[in-house]
Amino acid sequence: MTIIAIDQNLCTGCKECSKVCPTLAIEGYPHQPQTIAESRCVMCGQCVQKCKSYVSVAEHGAEAYERVRSERGLPESVKEPLFAAYNVCRLNEVKAALADPDKFTLVQCAPAVRMAIAEDFGYPLGTLAAGKLAAALRRIGFNKVYDANFGADVTIMEEGSELIDRVTNKGLLPMFTSCCPAWVRYVETKHPDLRNHLSSTKSPQQIEGALMKTYGAKITKTPAEKIYVVSVMPCTCKQFESSRPEMSDSGGRDVDVVMTTRELAWLIKDLGIDFAALPDEGFDKPLGDYSGAAGIFGVTGGVMEAALRTGYELLTGEAIPAVDIAAVRGTDGFRTAEVPVGQLKLKVGIVTGLKNVEPVMEELKAGRLNDYHFIEVMTCPEGCVTGGGQPKLLVDLDLPEAYRARAAATYSHDKELPVRKSHENPSVKKLYDDFLKKPLGKESHKLLHTTYAGDPKHH
Ligand code: SF4
Ligand code: SF4
Repeated sequence: MTIIAIDQNLCTGCKECSKVCPTLAIEGYPHQPQTIAESRCVMCGQCVQKCKSYVSVAEHGAEAYERVRSERGLPESVKEPLFAAYNVCRLNEVKAALADPDKFTLVQCAPAVRMAIAEDFGYPLGTLAAGKLAAALRRIGFNKVYDANFGADVTIMEEGSELIDRVTNKGLLPMFTSCCPAWVRYVETKHPDLRNHLSSTKSPQQIEGALMKTYGAKITKTPAEKIYVVSVMPCTCKQFESSRPEMSDSGGRDVDVVMTTRELAWLIKDLGIDFAALPDEGFDKPLGDYSGAAGIFGVTGGVMEAALRTGYELLTGEAIPAVDIAAVRGTDGFRTAEVPVGQLKLKVGIVTGLKNVEPVMEELKAGRLNDYHFIEVMTCPEGCVTGGGQPKLLVDLDLPEAYRARAAATYSHDKELPVRKSHENPSVKKLYDDFLKKPLGKESHKLLHTTYAGDPKHH
C-alpha cells in the first residue's frame, strides 16, 4: 500500500525533502525528480511538510491543476496548491462510509489534531480548538464522536503496568514506547535485534479502534460488523499502522480508514461547515472521555510524563508530589532524567526526532544504557504536534513558532482539565470494571497488545 509518494511530474529535484528525511530514504540527482526507497521510508510525512514544488491554478492553469487533484482523489472544493510530495488521501472512503446507511460510523481524533486544525481556518498558530473539532465531526455526520485520547489513557494503564512488570520481574529493559508507528517500523527494519525492547502495548489509535468495535459495540448496542471506525491523525504513518494485518483483534479491522488533520479541514470546507461559527462541544462519553495526561501524548516527552504520573501512583500507592514533571519536558534531541518512584530511581530517556535516534541505539548496543528503564521515541521533530499530516506551513520561518505554540496549547489544555492522570479517568475505571477487568489481563492481551515483525508469534 502506498502511503507517501512523490509526483514525478511536479518534483523539481530541489532536494529540500531529503534534508528532513530521518532515514535518508529519498534518492535522486539534484534538479531531477526524486524517488522514495520504500525499504527505508517510515512514512512519517516530513517530506510532505517540507516539499516546495507545486501545481496551482494561478501559475499552471485549471487543467493542469485538475489533473493532479482528481488523480489524488481530493474533493473538488480543494483549491490550494498541491505539492509534489504527498500522502495518499482516503477521503473518498470516509465519504462513502458516511453515506452508507448500513454503517455506524465512529470517529476518533489524536491529541495533536485539536492544537493545529484551526490553523487551516485562519486562526493563529497553535490555537486550541477541541470544542470546535468535536462540533465539526458531529456536523459531518459521525454517529459517535469519540477520542483517541481515551485510548491514550488506556495505553498508559497497559504500558505503565507493563513497565512495572518488567522492572519488578527483571524483564527486558529499557522498554521502548510503541505509540509512534514510524518508530516501530524503524526498529523492525533497521534494528530487528532490539524489537523486544518495544512495549507490546498498541498505540492509542489502535487501542481506541479495538475498544470501539468491542466495548463500543456493546454500549451502543450495535453489531460490531456495522461499526466503521475513522481516525483523524496528525500522522501520515497511522494509515500504515491501521493496515497492519495484526491490527484486527476485534474480529475485523480495528480502524477502517485514517484521515490527516489537513484532510479533515478539507472535508469540513467541502461540506460547507462554517468552522468559525461552530460552538464548543464535548466528545461523546465514555470512549471520548480523557485526562490531561492523554492530551500531552502529542508533544515530545508527553508519553513519558503521562506514564510517570500513573506509574508512580500504581507502584507507590501514594499521590505523585508534582503532576507537572519538568525533568522530561523540553526539545533536546536526547534528554535523560532520573525520577524517584518510591525506593526506585527510574532512569528514563526521551528521543525527539528519529534523526537523533542512531547514537542512542549505538549506546544501547554497546551496553551503556543497560541501567535505563524506559525510553520514549517520537519520529517527528517535536512529537506529533509537528506530524506529517498537520496543516502545512509554507514559510519555514513559521515552523519554530508553530511548534512552540502547539506545544504550549497542549500543556495549557492539560492544566485546564479536571482529571490529569490516566488512572483517574472515571470512564477508564469503568472500562476496567465492566469489560477489561484489569491491565495486562486476558481481554487486554487479546485486544490491546501486539507483536512485532520477527517475533515467532507475529502473524
Ligand atoms: S515519509 Fe518520512 S521517511 Fe519517508 S521519505 Fe518522507 S521524510 Fe523520508
Ligand atoms: S511522531 Fe507522531 S506524527 Fe510523527 S510519525 Fe510518530 S506518531 Fe506519527
